[in-house]
Amino acid sequence: MSKVLIIGCGGVASVAIHKCCQVPEVFTDICIASRTKSKCDKLAAELAPKTTTNITTAQVDADHVDEVIALIKSYQPDLVMNIALPYQDLTIMDACLACGVNYMDTANYEPENTDDPAWRAIYEKRCKEAGFSAYFDYSWQWAYAKKFEEAGLTALLGSGFDPGVTQAYCAYAKKHEFDTIDTIDILDCNGGDHGYAFATNFNPEINLREVSAPGSYWENGHWVEIPAMSIKREYDFDKVGQKDMYLLHHEEIESLAKNIPEAKRIRFFMTFGQSYLDHMRCLEDVGMLSTTPINFNGQEIVPIQFLKALLPDPASLGPRTKGKTNIGCIFTGKKDGKEKTYYIYNVCDHQECYKEVGSQAISYTTGVPAMCGALMLLTGKWTTKGVHTVEEFDPDPLSGRTGQVRPAPL
Ligand code: NDP
Repeated sequence: MSKVLIIGCGGVASVAIHKCCQVPEVFTDICIASRTKSKCDKLAAELAPKTTTNITTAQVDADHVDEVIALIKSYQPDLVMNIALPYQDLTIMDACLACGVNYMDTANYEPENTDDPAWRAIYEKRCKEAGFSAYFDYSWQWAYAKKFEEAGLTALLGSGFDPGVTQAYCAYAKKHEFDTIDTIDILDCNGGDHGYAFATNFNPEINLREVSAPGSYWENGHWVEIPAMSIKREYDFDKVGQKDMYLLHHEEIESLAKNIPEAKRIRFFMTFGQSYLDHMRCLEDVGMLSTTPINFNGQEIVPIQFLKALLPDPASLGPRTKGKTNIGCIFTGKKDGKEKTYYIYNVCDHQECYKEVGSQAISYTTGVPAMCGALMLLTGKWTTKGVHTVEEFDPDPLSGRTGQVRPAPL
């Protein structure tokens, strides 16, 4: 019996909301709130005949903390699920603290305006001290830890697939498969084909910022940063086949380095086809990935936002995407004094996801763990107060190992 406020109604949120409505005994009431209310109304109307969850909708601009506070106060939820964009993480966390409500999201904070001098000064100091230059990092949200602890609240960060399930795999490996973990390689393969020359599988602005940034990995207690796409490997993925993959910076490396300190090396690889890389390089070379506003015919535009308007909406890729994803972690380490390698991964079929919830597998593999994370908090399986990432919680109820809660299968 829970009331949940879900902020955002894009590709990932739509899947999470579908999945919440499949567990109406826990998600008895949900309010879908987003910047564009008509999208929330459309989804609510589509789901209402299929569920006993009581769905309401609201308009909110989550960039404004007072708007989120007013909405929380009027709806009185047990949990706020932030499935909008990373830009809204801090305002929504502030609102949750002000109203005494638990919080969760699927991606760590990054600012919309990377030219903001106040943010930039902190960012440049962090680049020097920490040794990686991605725009996103956990420091902003970890800074809320004491406030959440003192308020007796939980903030669950990054409950998607990667970040999210990949860290649950790490917690599972550490608890059940290893005495010590030496290396972690996270492998994210999308073998799907949507038939477009170029499109991104989730929010284009966030996606292109992430993959065009320098790569980095954790080794022997520090970050090693490399030029974007400069480390390439080939890998034969189960159910997908041979793919080229490239080393990227990814947010869960940062929290895993903190929470599994014995790991000597942590890396993240993602597959890309040559056409995607050629398009991205060209767009970058002509300035289309820039986040700095320019004046065009008397109007200020941000190039990457203009590009987003031209590209296919990721939520529209569902009917056209065929093939499978394969995402998982390869571990090396020791168990009972012996060297051991262990690989745990999930395979998801784009068309099967579309049949079930009307979305492609990237939104699906993110939206399902978002619902599962909420389920862990709402059913009291994960109760640690403060600000925490997925690997800090017991993986067993999530995996169904204890048989107490069996979330919808991925
Ligand atoms: P979309 O762009 O499809 O959806 C974003 C939603 O947020 C839209 O409904 C948008 O509204 C809404 N929104 C944006 N700004 C605001 C605001 N100021 N106030 C209220 N609502 C707002 O993104 P995705 O669904 O692809 O991604 C959602 C999140 O999931 C992102 O944070 C992304 O980084 C994360 N993600 C995480 C993954 C993981 O594995 N952990 C993988 C993939 C994504 P509007 O329609 O008006 O624009």
